[in-house]
Amino acid sequence: MDTLKSLKKYFGFDSFRQGQEELIENIVNGNDTLGVLPTGGGKSICYQLPALMLDGICLVISPLISLMKDQVDSLKENGIRAEFINSSQDIKTYTETLRKIKRNEIKILYISPERLENEFFIDFIMEVNISFVAVDEAHCISQWGHDFRPSYKLIPQIYDLFDNKIQIAAFTATATKAVREDIIKNLKLSDPFVKVTGFDRENLLFEVRKPKDKMAFISSYLKDKKDLSGIIYASTRKRVESCYRYLKKLSYNVTFYHAGLSDKDKKKNQEDFIYDRKNIIVATNAFGMGIDKSDVRYVIHMNMPKDMESYYQEAGRAGRDGEKSDAILLYSTQDIVINKYLISQSPNRAYQLVKLEKLQTIINYVNTNKCLRAFILEYFGQEAKEKCDNCSNCLDDYEKIDASLDSQKVLSCIYRLDQRYGTSTIVDCLKGSNNKNSKEKNLKAVSTFGIMKENDSKYIKDLIGVLVADGYIKVSGLKYPILKLNEKSKEVLFYNKKVFIRDLKEDNIKEKIEKFSGNSDYDKDLFNNLKKLRLEISKKRNIPPFIVFSDASLIDMARLKPKNEHEFLKIKGVGEKKLSQYGKFFIGKIKEFEN
Ligand code: ADP
Repeated sequence: MDTLKSLKKYFGFDSFRQGQEELIENIVNGNDTLGVLPTGGGKSICYQLPALMLDGICLVISPLISLMKDQVDSLKENGIRAEFINSSQDIKTYTETLRKIKRNEIKILYISPERLENEFFIDFIMEVNISFVAVDEAHCISQWGHDFRPSYKLIPQIYDLFDNKIQIAAFTATATKAVREDIIKNLKLSDPFVKVTGFDRENLLFEVRKPKDKMAFISSYLKDKKDLSGIIYASTRKRVESCYRYLKKLSYNVTFYHAGLSDKDKKKNQEDFIYDRKNIIVATNAFGMGIDKSDVRYVIHMNMPKDMESYYQEAGRAGRDGEKSDAILLYSTQDIVINKYLISQSPNRAYQLVKLEKLQTIINYVNTNKCLRAFILEYFGQEAKEKCDNCSNCLDDYEKIDASLDSQKVLSCIYRLDQRYGTSTIVDCLKGSNNKNSKEKNLKAVSTFGIMKENDSKYIKDLIGVLVADGYIKVSGLKYPILKLNEKSKEVLFYNKKVFIRDLKEDNIKEKIEKFSGNSDYDKDLFNNLKKLRLEISKKRNIPPFIVFSDASLIDMARLKPKNEHEFLKIKGVGEKKLSQYGKFFIGKIKEFEN
């Protein structure tokens, strides 16, 4: 059977997403592969489909045992024989799974990397016909990545076990070249087919705000989103709990998650969110790796994350089903101070420098005047259109202030002070300040002293932030950042390059957000009815609602209103198994609604 037909039969999709088809073909043809797709890009199908097309069992190595059950449940819902083995299981289930493997009754087996330390399991697996090994979240093998897991180093032993005859398909969402090279080297991939797809997540709307009152911003945003699933990230346990309490007081259906909770509470709160018993989860970044809930409609960061990679991964948990979703980053100057302080606590200087450099990228993201999507894509080494019309920088209707002359003043001041100082000294000099710093450095003697005394310090600081973000000033000596000029500075200083900054008035925000919600071309009442049916089924079968059907499938149903099985099969995410298992209930509900 060809791959496209199998895709529809098992997963109910009519077309491949970017990169999927080539990766699948290469795996089926026996090549080692490395697939770099963004979070939500559809990595799982890249190994699940070949697993069904090849003889034997596909062994999937996945870092989070807590999520294996969902992954396996989701495959079973599509009629695919999959199981997992992990330390949470009782011995009876474990031996039953081994028996099924022996009898060739399963096609996909999920394990954690630690399982490869278990000699009994290794002896057992050597007798099994393994089609190939899929390594999920492969960046965990790289020290350059942000979630290094020592146990991933165990994976290459597999070659010895199978006399070098085993094939590996690795997947990650981390795009940097160093990580990619590390994966290939450390996993010992042999002449692999590497596919790095575009990193754009078109359905995500990116928004950056610096509200005076973050909680007020969040509650105003959530007002018309009571029934939608969303994640709110905060940087500390204390902040998580206070945001949780705030929203609970406002009667939101909310839970929370951080590393200080007992394992039992963590599990319960996570499941409440996944099973739609709670709509909102407020969490530290301890939450979310591998969370594959597909209908998360927004991810809000209450504080600035530590780097661009973490941000894109966390924000990418919104809208996996391809439906419109929001990725909102709220920040304050205090966030930058705290992040720097945390980094300074590390005893390792080299590590501090790497982390500070990474932090600067996210500082640039919040300060940039450019299209936010273009900024992200360029950071990941991809070309992008100048404007996306789906981010706050493109959509905001802000006043543009021509800051070209002020920019020249800032750049001249950096030059006059021999490119030896950081932001505060430059501001002191431009403001003509008489403080201790100014006197110590004898700033008075410089010709740019006091040339911006009419402007307030905040404006000058913000302007410097924009000039750094958009590359007109270079920051070096990260611990005590020094502002330096570069080639691009000359464009402003000598060639009249215009620099604009935004005049963002907070009062406008509400109106803009309404614009973000967008119009929908499906029947919302029917959608809500179908959601209720999905919840009933999910409770009865004890599986998360999004595993029964994703929001994308329900939206498609509420749009096309299928009347019979033939039409139902055209719905996104409806394959043979889902048609036979659920078709009549959903068609019935749609008919009932229409009458
Ligand atoms: P990730 O790359 O983050 O592991 P997943 O494999 O979890 O992403 O896929 C994200 C979502 O996209 C899932 O809900 C999945 O069903 C859906 N998906 C994957 N491939 C396709 C496709 N070809 N067409 C439509 N939806 C798809």
